[in-house]
Amino acid sequence: MGNSKKRMKTTIVNKYKLIYTPLFIGLIAIFIISTISYYTSKSLLLTQMKQNGISLAKQTVLQVQGNADSLEMVNKMIEEKIRAVGKVVIMNQKNLNNDLLKKMANDLDVCEIDWYSPEGTIIYTNIDSYLGWKSPKDHPVENFRISGKNEYMEEIRMDTESFNYKKYGYLRNSDGTFIQIGISANAVKSLTRKFDYQTLVEKLSPGENVLHVTFVDKNLKAIADSNIKDIGTVYDKDKEQEMEEALKGMISTKDSSYKKVDTKALTIYVPVVHNGEISNVLVLSLSTEKVYYSIYMLSIKSSIIAIIMILMLLWVKNKNIIKPVKELDKCINQIDIEKNIQYRLSLSESDTFFGVASSINNILDKTSSYFYQLREHQEELQASNEEILATYQQLAASEEELRAQYDEIQSYTEKLESLRGELEHIAYHDSLTNLPNRRMFVKKLEEGISENKYGAVMLLDVDNFKGINDTLGHLYGDKVLKKVAEELEYIKDEKMFVSRFGGDEFLILIEGEKDIALIENYAKQIMNIFKNKLIIEGQETYLSCSMGITLYPFDSYKVSKLLINADMAMYRVKNIGKNNYMFFNEEMTEKLQEKIKVENILRESIKKDELKLLYQPQVCTFTGKIVGFEALLRLKNEHISPAQFIPIAEETGLIVEIGRWVTKEAVKQISIWKNKCLDITPISINFSAKQLNDLNYIEFLENTLKESHVEAKYIDIEITESIFLDKKKENIAFINRLKSLGVKIALDDFGTGYSSLSYLTFLPVDKIKLDKSLNDKFLELENIKVMDSLISLANSLNLEVVAEGIEDVVQYKRLKTAGCNYIQGYLFSKPLEVEEAEKVYNDNFLEKLIKISKN
Ligand code: C2E
Ligand code: MG
Ligand code: MG
Repeated sequence: MGNSKKRMKTTIVNKYKLIYTPLFIGLIAIFIISTISYYTSKSLLLTQMKQNGISLAKQTVLQVQGNADSLEMVNKMIEEKIRAVGKVVIMNQKNLNNDLLKKMANDLDVCEIDWYSPEGTIIYTNIDSYLGWKSPKDHPVENFRISGKNEYMEEIRMDTESFNYKKYGYLRNSDGTFIQIGISANAVKSLTRKFDYQTLVEKLSPGENVLHVTFVDKNLKAIADSNIKDIGTVYDKDKEQEMEEALKGMISTKDSSYKKVDTKALTIYVPVVHNGEISNVLVLSLSTEKVYYSIYMLSIKSSIIAIIMILMLLWVKNKNIIKPVKELDKCINQIDIEKNIQYRLSLSESDTFFGVASSINNILDKTSSYFYQLREHQEELQASNEEILATYQQLAASEEELRAQYDEIQSYTEKLESLRGELEHIAYHDSLTNLPNRRMFVKKLEEGISENKYGAVMLLDVDNFKGINDTLGHLYGDKVLKKVAEELEYIKDEKMFVSRFGGDEFLILIEGEKDIALIENYAKQIMNIFKNKLIIEGQETYLSCSMGITLYPFDSYKVSKLLINADMAMYRVKNIGKNNYMFFNEEMTEKLQEKIKVENILRESIKKDELKLLYQPQVCTFTGKIVGFEALLRLKNEHISPAQFIPIAEETGLIVEIGRWVTKEAVKQISIWKNKCLDITPISINFSAKQLNDLNYIEFLENTLKESHVEAKYIDIEITESIFLDKKKENIAFINRLKSLGVKIALDDFGTGYSSLSYLTFLPVDKIKLDKSLNDKFLELENIKVMDSLISLANSLNLEVVAEGIEDVVQYKRLKTAGCNYIQGYLFSKPLEVEEAEKVYNDNFLEKLIKISKN
């Protein structure tokens, strides 16, 4: 414990990371910065100094050049004056005498005019004492005399006689005599001195900044020097390359130490140009001591400032971070939850780590509350521990028991395994026929399609199976299905897969066959099963079946669509007379879609009460008077014929609701007509076989009649013979019950379908309605006898006869002759709206007919 505390203390603040490393980095930074600033300021200052020195030297040189040029000008002007004076004197040669010369000298402001003989003796002069003076050898006068030149100008020189500075000029006359003219040049000479190199050198006054100034000529000989003693010194060409370069026109500098006073110096070499030619070089040495001094000072000062700043930073860090951390550490070390649970760190908002300390205190708050809870749970745990121990002992005892049970379970598992196999069989097989079921079929078909196999799906439905069930009982029905399954199994081969779809439907898969003829062979083989009588429980039974066939993937590659296709094709077979097979085609889908559309329209029309009845008059063949109306249903807003929508209403069951609406509407119409005091004749209502499903129809009709106070005799009900195909007895009973209400029954569409004449002998009907197709065929002259017999048979059975669809007079006449009671057809009237029907209610149609034929 003690050890770890010590370790904690030593590592609480890592001085290497927090102090030494930043210090080290800071010092390196200072070193780098001061080095950079030293070199930068050195280069800046020296460059500046060089530029200043060069411009100083250039200015000096310019001054030298300017001075030389001005002196040249003055000299030239004096020479011009000498020439002018000479010319004036020569012009007055004839009158020349000493007095004239004196006057001219005075007027023209010259100090000396001497006229020399060709031999060099002064003949005339303005200075009397010179008269007769002969120029000695090597004297400038003698030099001109023998030179043969016409003109010569001397440099300013001291007069050998007067010791004044003078400028002398000589002009030769045509006769060999020549003139010497002297002009005082003391002023010019003093100017020259003022402008000379040495004066300039002295002006630059060597001192603190300028160390040494010198002018050298082309031979590197000092012609002026700040140290007068050094004038005349000749510099070594090899050592003084910068002087050589300056003589070539280059300005250069040299950074060196000046040996004479042992200081650092910058020497500048600038060429002096006179009359477009480099005549001299100015060498100017400047002291750089001060510059270097200020560079050193700058570096030292900035380093000191940086060091002070680093120290201040470290001080702040120590005060604000290191010390508070140590303080915090000390406080944290005092935390001891076991011994002093109340202890909290002291808080002061000014502390650097106030936030951390308060977080630690929060943690301490939570920890102590957990600690209290822990203590509470500890005791509970103690108790449960003991309990667990006891349980453990119990468990150990149970383990052996469990082992025994495990063995038992093992044996059950094995049994279950075999059961699962059985279950799987049950899941995929039909319990009645033991054929694979729909699930198995779908699985097999899906697999086939996914493996890109082709083939055919056949849906087989046993015809009139419902009838078998109802008449011979469900047990017998089951046996029929078993027999069919057996027969199917019997004919199946490796391509044929037989399953039960449910009810009386079987699904057969012909796999791997796409030849239509061969698929059709399978279908024929299946149909053949039903061709012969089947013997079930020793009883002979005749069965037939309807079968729809669809090909995959030709018709679809979706199982659901294939099943719908087969179903559609099968229904088509049922609709056109059963006992056959048919291949699915797209037209069926279109018909189905059309059917769905019509069904939707029907539902909408019922919902929105958009149904109406038209009334077609039934006319007495002999009197021409209306004996009744047939109520014919129409949709108010749709042009769909009942021939189209009634079968759909029957299929969908909507016919029940529609049937009731028609009944109610027809009864209401009678009641209205009654109230209008019209001579009431019955209205015929069409009653579909499917309406037999409306079990309470008779009560409904009775109530409707009662409610409207309409007698049953005003309602005729038209049925078709299809009503007696199934449940013959029950349906005959139903019709009898209807009749007992007082309504009359008409057998509609007689002459279509089976239309057995023997029916007429036992069916409880009051009228027969000869169908239009029958009339069209048998009212022809060659067939009229059939019609005559049919009508007289009906009459003899006490049945009234209504002929439907009569459109021409000939038909009417033949029917009249045959003794037909009533006529319903366009000849007299089309189905009419209520208002129109009311208008013709009391008309005589025969009279109308006669009128029309007369016209
Ligand atoms: P249906 O009961 O045999 O009715 C007679 C049909 O023949 C009517 O057709 C009628 O308009 C038509 N017809 C009458 N005289 C002539 C004629 O001279 N020439 C021609 N070409 N046709 C004539 P509609 O109204 O189109 O009805 C067709 C079928 O729809 C009806 O045949 C009936 O079976 C059914 N139907 C009509 N209304 C209802 C109804 O309210 N309920 C039921 N269940 N079926 C109805
Ligand atoms: Mg009818
Ligand atoms: Mg009819």
